[in-house]
Amino acid sequence: MDISIVIPLFCEEESLSELSESIVKVMNENKYSYEIIFVDDGSTDKSWDVIESLSAKNSNIKGIKFRRNYGKSAALNCGFQDSQGNIVITMDADLQDSPDEIPELCKMINEQGFHLVSGWKKKRHDPISKTVPTKLFNWATRRMTKIKLHDFNCGLKAYKKDVVKCIEVYGEMHRYIPVIAKWAGFKRIGEKVVKHSERKYGKTKFGIERFVNGFLDLISISFVGKFGKRPMHFFGLWGTLLFIVGFIIAAYLAYAKIALDTYKMTDRPLFYLGLLCMIIGSQLFLTGFIAEMVSRNSSERNTYLIEKKLGIIDNIKIQ
Ligand code: UDP
Ligand code: MG
Repeated sequence: MDISIVIPLFCEEESLSELSESIVKVMNENKYSYEIIFVDDGSTDKSWDVIESLSAKNSNIKGIKFRRNYGKSAALNCGFQDSQGNIVITMDADLQDSPDEIPELCKMINEQGFHLVSGWKKKRHDPISKTVPTKLFNWATRRMTKIKLHDFNCGLKAYKKDVVKCIEVYGEMHRYIPVIAKWAGFKRIGEKVVKHSERKYGKTKFGIERFVNGFLDLISISFVGKFGKRPMHFFGLWGTLLFIVGFIIAAYLAYAKIALDTYKMTDRPLFYLGLLCMIIGSQLFLTGFIAEMVSRNSSERNTYLIEKKLGIIDNIKIQ
């Protein structure tokens, strides 16, 4: 199968038939073999009924329904696992992304060898309360992850099959799929300017809290990526440094007290600073130890993705 189109949706009943019609049109025009996987993220409206009737008419249209609303990341992850196409396209269900971009995206993957191509909503049709913070968000993500994308959270993206089968999208990490892909070793990440339309029906499912959550996720994803498997290298370093600073301060104060005997140690503000540094330093160090124990006990402490093997005979067991 050429293409799987994964569409996470939450209460988008009005858009679905229009969306599937326009996708099917593009697929037929280009003679792709395809499947459309609607992942209904616990909609409370008639979305699932619409999906059922669409699927009855066209066997390429498939559906997965969650028991409750788990979030866009979970929906994407589930769709990724069940997809069969050599290229996997994700798009939003709200008609803001255009299926006309799909052939070009596929070309970039097939011919230019990209692992992942992300859409870039260069000309956005969203309220200003969303576009300005998004610029900031993209800038921060670019700086922290060193991935040169203008629009990390575009719903329209294309992936090579290997990518979606190797990565796991959890929590609210759908905003950072290119980052997750990069860590999994898929470094050829491209970008394509895509058309973007206004939301036609319903309203956005993410409120202002998206920016707070997105920012916190950025911090945790960069931390986990760098130190997730070796937390002591972070906490141990800063803990030790802070402790040494505190110790030097305390030693100096003790020396000043004994040798010069000019003042009471506790009269000096520096005393409290030294104390604070030593306490926080040892706390950081201990946090490092605990984090190290946690990661040591994780079943994923030693998982790596193998691309190829040469001349290796698998499964030799030592008797
Ligand atoms: N979505 C989802 N689960 C959720 C929230 C959103 O599957 O809990 C879907 C939603 O139906 C849409 C896509 O994610 O297809 C993007 O959502 P939305 O258009 O509200 O986001 P925005 O365009 O405002 O960033
Ligand atoms: Mg939208």
